[in-house]
Amino acid sequence: MVHFFHEADRTSGPKIEAIAREQLRAWYDLHKLLTMHWAPIFSDYEKHFALIEKKLNGHREFLRAKYDDLVPSINIEKSKGIQFRFCGSCSFEAARVSTILGSLLESDCLVCRYHDKWFDYCCPDCSITSPLREGGEFICWSCNATIDEKEIVEQINEFIITPDNYFEARVPAHCSECEGYHSVVQYKDQYLCVVCFCVTEDVAACSWCGEFGNGDMEDSNLGGCTVCAGSIGNQMSKDD
Ligand SMILES: [Zn+2]
Ligand SMILES: [Zn+2]
Ligand SMILES: [Zn+2]
Ligand SMILES: [Zn+2]
Repeated sequence: MVHFFHEADRTSGPKIEAIAREQLRAWYDLHKLLTMHWAPIFSDYEKHFALIEKKLNGHREFLRAKYDDLVPSINIEKSKGIQFRFCGSCSFEAARVSTILGSLLESDCLVCRYHDKWFDYCCPDCSITSPLREGGEFICWSCNATIDEKEIVEQINEFIITPDNYFEARVPAHCSECEGYHSVVQYKDQYLCVVCFCVTEDVAACSWCGEFGNGDMEDSNLGGCTVCAGSIGNQMSKDD
């Protein structure tokens, strides 16, 4: 009996594990959308979500053996100062955290391989830190405060405007990655888009409109930037 169980476990285990992993990841990504960006549309569905969550807890049990195997090596890494967090997808404390820039972090889960990226954002209302994700809106885990993009820009931006440097201000700049308007701030001596988390070493002025952006401005006089169409676009609109 025991022997039979082991046979079955060895052949179907990895497959079941992979399916469980995929479904957990898919649900986690969907759940983030449903409860953040699409929250107003799906606010009545909380009960349904809770039910799915409950069912997926069974899936998580398929991954427990893998987590148990990894615990000793995770503990060794932790003792060396590497940070682990609870994985949003599989719920085990196996998401190995690395720093991209300051509070901009990413993690890879050793159990389910879920990759995550977020900014540890201190809620201006309750001072508790929770993750700010891509998209330019923050909802506090603790007090449910909703902070919009403009406020996030103001809070993260480290360039302090004074009457003396007003004309030198290069931020907030525009983002060529996500076409964010005034979404790029100065942060830890680099430039960060608070909407798509694009990090660049510099921002530059468009030679057609003079607005600052994080994209390549070399041909901007002709082709423009995120917010203008350059001399070519200008000419074309005149021709119309
Ligand atoms: Zn995981
Ligand atoms: Zn809060
Ligand atoms: Zn961006
Ligand atoms: Zn421009």
